[in-house]
Amino acid sequence: MAITEEKTVEEKNLSFVEQLVEQDLAEGKNAGRIQTRFPPEPNGYLHIGHAKAICMDFGVAEKYNGVCNLRFDDTNPTKENNEYVENILNDISWLGFKWGNIYYASDYFEKLWDFAVWMIQNGHAYIDEQTAEQIAEQKGTPTTPGVASPYRDRPVEESLKLFNKMNTPEAVEGSMVLRAKLDMANPNMHFRDPIIYRIIHTPHHRTGTKWHAYPMYDFAHGQSDFFEGVTHSICTLEFVPHRPLYDKFIDYLKEMRGETENLHDFRPRQIEFNRLNLTYTVLSKRKLLQLVKEGLVDGWDDPRMPTISGLRRRGFTPESIKAFINRIGYTKFEAVNDISLLEFSIREDLNKRATRVCAVIDPVKVVITNYPDDQVEQMEMENNPEDPTSGTHTMPFSREIYIERDDFMENPPKKFFRMTPDKEVRLKGAYIVKCTGCKKDADGRIEEIYCEYDPESKSGMPGSMRKVKGTLHWVSARHCIDAEVRLYDRLFAVENASEVKDRDFHELLNPDSIKVVEHAKIEPFLAENAEPGAHFQFQRIGYFTPDKKDSTKEHLVFNRTITLKDSWQKINK
Ligand code: ATP
Ligand code: MG
Repeated sequence: MAITEEKTVEEKNLSFVEQLVEQDLAEGKNAGRIQTRFPPEPNGYLHIGHAKAICMDFGVAEKYNGVCNLRFDDTNPTKENNEYVENILNDISWLGFKWGNIYYASDYFEKLWDFAVWMIQNGHAYIDEQTAEQIAEQKGTPTTPGVASPYRDRPVEESLKLFNKMNTPEAVEGSMVLRAKLDMANPNMHFRDPIIYRIIHTPHHRTGTKWHAYPMYDFAHGQSDFFEGVTHSICTLEFVPHRPLYDKFIDYLKEMRGETENLHDFRPRQIEFNRLNLTYTVLSKRKLLQLVKEGLVDGWDDPRMPTISGLRRRGFTPESIKAFINRIGYTKFEAVNDISLLEFSIREDLNKRATRVCAVIDPVKVVITNYPDDQVEQMEMENNPEDPTSGTHTMPFSREIYIERDDFMENPPKKFFRMTPDKEVRLKGAYIVKCTGCKKDADGRIEEIYCEYDPESKSGMPGSMRKVKGTLHWVSARHCIDAEVRLYDRLFAVENASEVKDRDFHELLNPDSIKVVEHAKIEPFLAENAEPGAHFQFQRIGYFTPDKKDSTKEHLVFNRTITLKDSWQKINK
């Protein structure tokens, strides 16, 4: 006998947004229809904060069989362009989300204009010819009422005439604005006759020079939601004080259309969640643009940038970004999340998918003096011990190899289990060797290290089973290839980089956020397999990906996605 059980909210593990959506569905609102939107302004590249909004907007639509549309909030031509539009589309697809339609706020300029005219005709808006400073001065404070503009009660005809003038090439930018006539004493400052239209002559990336008067965000966003039939308009907490205005303009819009609540009760519902803030980075498009413009980074997709394209170029996967967002969740209060959580998510994901290879970043040569000079053996290397289906590849072994310079010490401290005279150490996937000495130059720098190998200790042989404390990675000197390796680290050295106000932004940058190694030695397998988008674990070092812009077959370039372990914990705390 089948038993149907209603799961409680806790059992379903719903976010508070999903709980509200389920409530609306239970009440039969909007005939059970779910429609969301992701509304970027095309004035920059998307960053990890946007990914949080994207996961919510698309996630809710997916979960409740709805649709999520994309809407470009393109109401300020001075900052927007098509390059940004293209990249936003690309980034959302890469994250793995599918939109229903693509809309533009600029498609509604005509409708918004008509609505603004209706507002004027019905005494709800007027043209103010004061300066921006005068208007700001009259706003008052949350506890003291504002002062009415001298133009507040000007005749409707005058405002209509001036509104038309605002939309001509002759209108002077800043000479007048259209303001909604609401309530100069309202404790919500957004109600104190907000500016709803302004003059801009910069050509628009889609409508060219057709318009000269442009709606402000608050006069475009909610209306666009309404025109499109959005049921849940999910945004970030800074829009909480805008919500009454959002609702007010929709009331007017419905009144204009003669829609009473009984006739047509559709109305988008705004729901707000906390923005993503991250330590050791900034997530403001204005600041990110500054980094790009001042050449402090190599463009919006510099691997140190918190942009989606930067993270992608750095070697992050969509899965790791989504796992991170899932981990931090959605709340109703502002907080700052630790970037090490994002780093944990990418380590966890790459541990499962990255192919293990050998690369020596700071090479020193080791000669295995009892290994025949003309002999080469192909050693079988596991591709990924975490994934039994991943198979193996071979790596050549010969008399001369490279190891990391700091894996050798002539006079080591007690717990040094790497290469040192008279001690055995294991070469990963090959033999156990014993160091017999080294050669130094005049300055005491090690030039060459000498070892003897035990022919019975080859990986897999019984002789390999004995206990040897250290295992080193290596590459065959004769077979390895050179590669450029870019060791990236956090872009900012300061934990609360986005909050610091009293220091210059430039002082907060991490001076060691990139180190370039020109001639790392990498195993020959990578010559054929370092495709863009591939992920590798350089054993004992970290996770790396070929740089999609600069890496070629002739000159391989690898970006360090992340170190194997979090070294910031001990050093910087
Ligand atoms: P900025 O203030 O950096 O310019 P923005 O909020 O103006 O960013 P938009 O393009 O308007 O950027 O944002 C599109 C959507 O992404 C909005 O719904 C916004 O709330 C959301 N969003 C932007 N930044 C974050 C963030 N840090 N965390 C979560 N959501 C964000
Ligand atoms: Mg915005």
